[in-house]
Amino acid sequence: MRLLVTGGAGYVGSVCATLLLERGHEVVVVDDLSTGNADAVPAGAEFVRGDVAALAADVLGTDPRAPRFDGVLHFAAQSLVGESVEVPEKYWQGNVVTTLTLLEAMRASGTSRLVFSSTAATYGEPDHSPITEADPTRPTNPYGATKLAIDHAISSYAVAHGLAATSLRYFNVAGAYRGAGENRVVETHLIPLVLQVALGQRDKISIFGTDWPTPDGTAIRDYIHVLDLAEAHLLAVNASTPGRHDIYNLGSGSGFSVREVISACERVTGLPITAEDAPRRAGDPAVLVASSDRAIAELGWSPAHTDLDEIVADAWQFLKDLGDRSHAARR
Ligand code: UDP
Repeated sequence: MRLLVTGGAGYVGSVCATLLLERGHEVVVVDDLSTGNADAVPAGAEFVRGDVAALAADVLGTDPRAPRFDGVLHFAAQSLVGESVEVPEKYWQGNVVTTLTLLEAMRASGTSRLVFSSTAATYGEPDHSPITEADPTRPTNPYGATKLAIDHAISSYAVAHGLAATSLRYFNVAGAYRGAGENRVVETHLIPLVLQVALGQRDKISIFGTDWPTPDGTAIRDYIHVLDLAEAHLLAVNASTPGRHDIYNLGSGSGFSVREVISACERVTGLPITAEDAPRRAGDPAVLVASSDRAIAELGWSPAHTDLDEIVADAWQFLKDLGDRSHAARR
């Protein structure tokens, strides 16, 4: 297939683009590099630098009788929860308006398949665990609200215009694959932050809340290896059916506490990690664990890298290699 990957210079998008190329697909990446890195775009992909909304019609074309692409994997998004509370307009414009423009460009160009990066943040504070796709969606921040709004828009495009669409609701993505990993200017995620402590790039990790109703008092999350996530995208693009919008949760199915993650990082790196107790972070739920049963049953997805130490080890290798590369570049 010939596929457009928006946000293919970002973390998940670049891993997915790498896997698509390995499986023989043709990939065009559009990314404005506002948060991504040009280096992350895999060598075999064609790279168009710029804003997705501005470029969508040009890249996709405007003749529905001669579509240029078999589908779009739409990763490009603003994705910082805290920032979305402070600057919601950036999220409504950057996520919702951009995606509506993309949907129109897909319609005008006869592009039939869409795989969209949705999120566990669409559910908000869950009533129970694990979370299924039938659970209520009550996002607690603008980031989750914009992703949910897009999911609704996609559903109506599927019904009205025959779009073949899949939304994948990611839980906590981590790990790395073939030189593609988490490398953000502004890092807020637990595993890369803890590994930065091991690398000596930061003094300590703050544990946001030690009084949660969990066995060790710290919050529990479901960490999914980015390679398993990328595999789900390949399955989704193949399984997409005209007129349907299918939604799947993607996690590893088991939860790990913040303290368990820190311990895994100590085991993997062989280094002590200084941690300090800190207040809860606003908007954080105590426990977020996915039921991925639907993806397993309907997509035939089978997560192969669910071991926390393996996920951390891949993230650690990526960060060490990145450090070596930037050290070599400075010399
Ligand atoms: N967390 C933490 N210290 C940090 C960053 C994160 O204790 O410096 C906690 C956070 O409160 C959450 C878990 O680690 O319970 C995972 O956070 P992350 O930001 O990686 O992902 P989220 O679950 O918010 O999407």
